Amino acid sequence: MSVKSFPLTRAQLEELAKTYPTPFYVYDEAAIRRNAQAIKKAFSVFPGYKEHFAVKALPNPYILKILESEGFGADCSSLPELLLADMSGMKTEAIMLTSNETPAKEYIKARELGAIINLDDFTHIEYVEKSLAGGLPELVSCRYNPGPLKEGNAIIGKPEEAKYGFTREQLFDGYKLLKQKGVKRFGLHTMVASNELSLDYHLETGRLLFELAVEIKNKTGIGIEFVNLGGGLGIPYKPEQEAVSWDSLASGLKKLYDEIVAPSGLKLEIHTEYGRPVTGPYGWLVARAIHSKHIYREYIALDASMADLMRPALYGAYHHITIPGKENAPLTETYDVVGSLCENNDKFAVQRKLPKICTSENTGDFVVIHDAGAHGRAMGFNYNGKLRCGELLLRSDGTIKQIRRAETVEDYFATIDLNGVKEF
Ligand SMILES: *Cc1c(COP(=O)(O)O)cnc(C)c1O
Repeated sequence: MSVKSFPLTRAQLEELAKTYPTPFYVYDEAAIRRNAQAIKKAFSVFPGYKEHFAVKALPNPYILKILESEGFGADCSSLPELLLADMSGMKTEAIMLTSNETPAKEYIKARELGAIINLDDFTHIEYVEKSLAGGLPELVSCRYNPGPLKEGNAIIGKPEEAKYGFTREQLFDGYKLLKQKGVKRFGLHTMVASNELSLDYHLETGRLLFELAVEIKNKTGIGIEFVNLGGGLGIPYKPEQEAVSWDSLASGLKKLYDEIVAPSGLKLEIHTEYGRPVTGPYGWLVARAIHSKHIYREYIALDASMADLMRPALYGAYHHITIPGKENAPLTETYDVVGSLCENNDKFAVQRKLPKICTSENTGDFVVIHDAGAHGRAMGFNYNGKLRCGELLLRSDGTIKQIRRAETVEDYFATIDLNGVKEF
């Protein structure tokens, strides 16, 4: 079981909505810090452990600054994400560029920041060498795609069908070539799952990388300096699901490390690129129920839409919903909870048992959508002329800080020369 709580009362939301009209995201700073500290504590069995938070999960520099102050770095996959990490105070090797099909300007920016460059393909060895003024950096990491050696999972698919990474053979050749070209320090990375809740799956990924690092040392003499286990650790979106415990994960990995790596004499640092389990459970999308509709089904319509949170529409993902003030009310109704996009999959919940919900533009019930702190606002879009909502931070001292305002119509038109349109 996972507990689905929300840190604000209905009365507090009413007050908040006077300044910040719904919909908006809320993140809980104290909870994010507690979780970050739990991760660090669990992984302290590995000297030099580093979590590079996957910026794509929650690309807000205020959040990144909080994580930086807890000792986390960043995993970036684009130029703006590198800039976000930089403005959040993350320095040099705290930043990792794990991108794919990467344009030269991203490698150049990563190099300028002193970030770790993680290559996605064998051909990128020469590409990076040519793209960077000083040639290849001293430290290079390679992304491994284990192909049929590793089972897939629903969101990311089977590794052998995934576009990412080097094959096993390419990896051995790749490290040898990198060494020939003067590279001195090496990392090994993989990312094979998404939202995977099985502890064993993640331990097996650890085993795969540990064995590979030892094999690389034995066959090529190259000593890998760190393995990055990637992200893909799931969170319990459904109340009946259970989170993977940080302690079980870290101690399970340590056991494998002692068994496989320690006897080889190799000294491997452990790095991770978790996004979802770092902030996911500590962010909520808050909307108001503005309409109800009674046709073949009962509908509750929100002032938010899939433009604010796409996961239910995109993956059919479950997000728990609660109604502040009605936490203990009986679940007497069966609703489809929907947004206003002209797409029938714009549904936050389908045939969901909920308490009776009151709807009205200004006084309707608040509808809280849980576990929206990762891959939530970040996946927002403007299709159908929808304006993306803002983000609020519940500070550790109980105050609220707006960390991103809601988009306006002016933002929507900002990339078009409107005077040009008049003259056209
Ligand atoms: C998306 C991604 C992550 C983070 O995944 P989560 O599921 O949010 O933990 C980490 N590394 C890479 C390469 C990714 O693409």
